[in-house]
Amino acid sequence: MQPTSSVPLDFLGDLRRTHSCGELRASNAGQRALLMGWVHRRRDLGGVIFIHLRDRDGITQCVFEEATSDAHKKAELLRSEFVVAVEGRVITRSKETINSNIPTGEVEIVVDNLYILNESRTPPFPMEDTVDVSEEARLKYRFVDLRRPRMQRNIILRSKMTLAIRNALYDQGFLEIETPFMTRSTPEGARDYLVPARVNPGTFYALPQSPQIFKQLLMVAGYEKYFQIVRCFRDEDLRADRQPEFTQIDLEMSFPQQETVYATIEKLLAGVMSVLGQDLPLPLPRLTYDQAMKMYGTDKPDLRLPPFHIVSDLFEGAGLVAASSPLVAIVIPKTGQLSRKERDELKDAGKEKGLRVFDDAKRLERDFPEAMAKVRERTGAAEEDTLLLAGFGEEPKGARPDETVLKACGQLRLLAGAKYNDRHKLLDPNVFKFLWVVDFPMFEWDEEDNRWMAAHHPFTSVLDEHIDKLTDDPAGCRAKSYDVVLNGVELGSGSIRIHRRDVQSKVFSALGFTDEEARRRFGFLLDALEYGAPPHGGIALGLDRLVMILCGETSIRDVIPFPKTAKGTDLMCDAPSEVPERQLKEIGISIRRPQ
Ligand code: ASP
Repeated sequence: MQPTSSVPLDFLGDLRRTHSCGELRASNAGQRALLMGWVHRRRDLGGVIFIHLRDRDGITQCVFEEATSDAHKKAELLRSEFVVAVEGRVITRSKETINSNIPTGEVEIVVDNLYILNESRTPPFPMEDTVDVSEEARLKYRFVDLRRPRMQRNIILRSKMTLAIRNALYDQGFLEIETPFMTRSTPEGARDYLVPARVNPGTFYALPQSPQIFKQLLMVAGYEKYFQIVRCFRDEDLRADRQPEFTQIDLEMSFPQQETVYATIEKLLAGVMSVLGQDLPLPLPRLTYDQAMKMYGTDKPDLRLPPFHIVSDLFEGAGLVAASSPLVAIVIPKTGQLSRKERDELKDAGKEKGLRVFDDAKRLERDFPEAMAKVRERTGAAEEDTLLLAGFGEEPKGARPDETVLKACGQLRLLAGAKYNDRHKLLDPNVFKFLWVVDFPMFEWDEEDNRWMAAHHPFTSVLDEHIDKLTDDPAGCRAKSYDVVLNGVELGSGSIRIHRRDVQSKVFSALGFTDEEARRRFGFLLDALEYGAPPHGGIALGLDRLVMILCGETSIRDVIPFPKTAKGTDLMCDAPSEVPERQLKEIGISIRRPQ
């Protein structure tokens, strides 16, 4: 690597900071100060040199006045991102030069000593947030990118939110307990990352997809309230905003009602919101899964848009949609009269999802005046709102056919909301709408394997009154499970667990696990259930997503200091990477290369 320049550098010696770059105010005028940080900007006005000195806390303006002084001469050498210490006198700025954009804007430091602690090559991109930089460059030079104000704000907020979470849980009597990273397969249903065990050739550890089994064991072991802010690893197919490793706020408690878990998490979320200086009105709204489906066509409703309404009963025999399809009225507020083109776009989008969309409210009003009057009454749709009716033209299919239609309508509702968002600010990122969705289906139908799968995981309790449905009506069987949702994003899921061995066996057999298979995968948990397992339950929330939404970001990579790309690579460390043959040999692995 080339040396950047030949600037003479100073030693830190016994220099000590007196203030941070965000600290000085008019009341400090007259004091001496020693600040350290990075040269954010330098302006040379001939006789006078100004620098903006930046550290994590803020920016302070420093002035080098006397053109003949040593400090001034050294200041001529400064470039962006050099690391310096400045020592001088704090003065108030004249009225005309006050910078009201920064908290230190009323003062500046007249520097008499400048120490250059390190130089910097020209940064690969400017420090300003306003400059658009490719994600590739940002991730490759992450140490520079992380210096930019937006990333600093995000990472600092993340730290503060994490502390608020810890405090909320410690205050409620939780213990922070670690669980292993080198373990065996956990029950979350994704692919595992495997770690070869050198001393037992041919065997592998799995990195945990979650601490699920261990946290249940901690309940059996009598710790009562456990939490961990913990990394989880899932080798899933890559999607734009998925990370192979991500952080969960994971907790578990003994003897809880569902209510106990809700109250615990609500306090935690209130703590997090207080970091933003916002009150969170509690309790959070709550919908059952079935209600959420019927009102929003999704199990993670975005409450910033109004619910839709099923209006099948008002159009019986009208033949608008297939006999077994629900007919749904969707209202997109204040979008006014859409143009022909816009309505066609919505229609086409609906068609792709199998929907027949009736976008012409005027015409429907002419053909079905009474029914449409009732639709307006039921939905509250005003003249300035867009009102759509939608349903399937063909008979819907699937394990729960109604849901197939409702889900498509839910997608159309969101799509229409997002489409007019720019014009109408329907989905304001500064509005945070949390809710609980509860009583999820116990099972999901797996088309590929032709069998029922656990919708959450196989340790989830069924509603007491649905025990018989386990065998008689798996599709209708509801679980003691719950999700927290924020602005249409699932933040986390949890459940009351099965604590009895006999019930666990029933669920395994409903899932088509043989006893042997269950033993092989989760034998130690099954054993533990036989040694005085208390009723228990818990939840895990995705910290990355929570922080992302609260920071107003749309990518979790912007709230993770060192994330992987959408392709699962680390551009800075160049991981994953090949390893030397010798290392492979040691772990008894040989690579079969694709032809
Ligand atoms: N382990 C579950 C998950 O990661 C969460 C829970 O049930 O607590 O989704």
